[in-house]
Amino acid sequence: MNFELIKAVLFDMDGVLFDSMPNHAYAWVKAVEECGLHMTREEVYMNEGRTGSGTINALAQRTWGRDATEEECEKIYAIKSRYFNTCPEALPMEGAAEVLDKVREMGMKRVLVTGSGQVSLLDRLNQAYPDHFTKDCMVTAFDVRYGKPHPEPYLMGLKKGFVKASEAIVVENAPLGIQAAKAAGIYTIAVNTGPLPDQVLIDAGADIVFSSMQALAKALG
Ligand code: CA
Repeated sequence: MNFELIKAVLFDMDGVLFDSMPNHAYAWVKAVEECGLHMTREEVYMNEGRTGSGTINALAQRTWGRDATEEECEKIYAIKSRYFNTCPEALPMEGAAEVLDKVREMGMKRVLVTGSGQVSLLDRLNQAYPDHFTKDCMVTAFDVRYGKPHPEPYLMGLKKGFVKASEAIVVENAPLGIQAAKAAGIYTIAVNTGPLPDQVLIDAGADIVFSSMQALAKALG
């Protein structure tokens, strides 16, 4: 990989910049169980990045043999959000600050590409990672029509960073996120911060896999 050509690094958020996936896994498993559906923790990680209704419909098909109604989706997602909000606030991912600092030292832009729609996002990002992300360099749930694995979020990230696919790198932790980045034509670094085997991330199209953000920071020199 020739880093001299790289002008921007596009960062996913949950599971990359914040250690928030254990909270999401807990909340999904509890919420769907309460509604007569079933989902394992591992399945939460496999579905990471999908929209709430996309995830719920897949579970409904499996158990009920039909899609969930809009009402059911809203109810289950509200319960999921309720459980999620009882969780302790997710901490910044270990090693992520070092990665961001190194990327800045190398003269590359930092762009956020997340499917999350939390309104307090920018505040939390600025608190954990001061001076790295500006609002015009963020793609959130409010900016896109399609969620990952559709390439749209990453194509929008390229646009916001004013770079071509060949001038960017993506840092992702989830299979569907990796698929989205590869579909956008971008070199993709996977950091395996969850319980899935590396092979799942490689099969999704990752160009290289690191075991943690610390390991990635070390590799950046
Ligand atoms: Ca993620």
